[in-house]
Amino acid sequence: MQCPVCNEETCIKKSAVELYKELIALFFKYQDKESSVTFKKHPTVGEIGACEKTGKKIWYCPYCDSPFAENYELDKVTIECPKCNQTLCIPVSNRTFC
Ligand SMILES: [Zn+2]
Ligand SMILES: [Zn+2]
Repeated sequence: MQCPVCNEETCIKKSAVELYKELIALFFKYQDKESSVTFKKHPTVGEIGACEKTGKKIWYCPYCDSPFAENYELDKVTIECPKCNQTLCIPVSNRTFC
């Protein structure tokens, strides 16, 4: 799988992708599309590595099964996949708490 930032094959951890796919399969099984809780309604992006050249985190969209460079904005808990425009939650480690 190619890095969405620099196109190298080494930035993405294959094991992380496999693990994420297993976890997200469970999420979709119990997904509550009517929920008012963001994290029940939308899947969380996968963190599948970081670009070795730029240090940018690489995220993974479960809808279109493709990696993309992190694109979170401050104070937001969701993003849109740049490829398929589905709503995704940001991983906990990227959220800011005050
Ligand atoms: Zn890279
Ligand atoms: Zn997508």
